[in-house]
Amino acid sequence: MDAMSELIAAACAVRERAYAPYSRFPVGAAVRAEDGSVFVGCNVENAASPEGLCAEAAAIAAMVATGRQKLIAVAVVGGDATRPCLPCGGCRQKMQEFAAPGTVVVVADGNGRILYEGLLSRLLPMPFGPGGEQ
Ligand SMILES: [Zn+2]
Repeated sequence: MDAMSELIAAACAVRERAYAPYSRFPVGAAVRAEDGSVFVGCNVENAASPEGLCAEAAAIAAMVATGRQKLIAVAVVGGDATRPCLPCGGCRQKMQEFAAPGTVVVVADGNGRILYEGLLSRLLPMPFGPGGEQ
């Protein structure tokens, strides 16, 4: 299994643990840190909806909690071909904060089929950040 397939599989697996009783739209995310290690997160909704957490944000937080602060790839699993789960604006900014130049983002469905693959810089052109130009 290649590195990106492995990342998608990790996102697929953690998606099963999503807490999404309100939207019924479970999402899993996996980020690969610069050293190759993988961190996962799922969406965690809340009755007070603004308090919910995106899967990507959870995965990034898990990475940062281990002391790693540079990611090179992100996989997001959710939705389907007609409704691919592209990262929200807030998550694009969160990725940018820790992204190495050339960071790739892949969006897949629950079967691991790739719906989108491209550079983070395409999803977030002209970013505001701590010198994280791509
Ligand atoms: Zn988000």
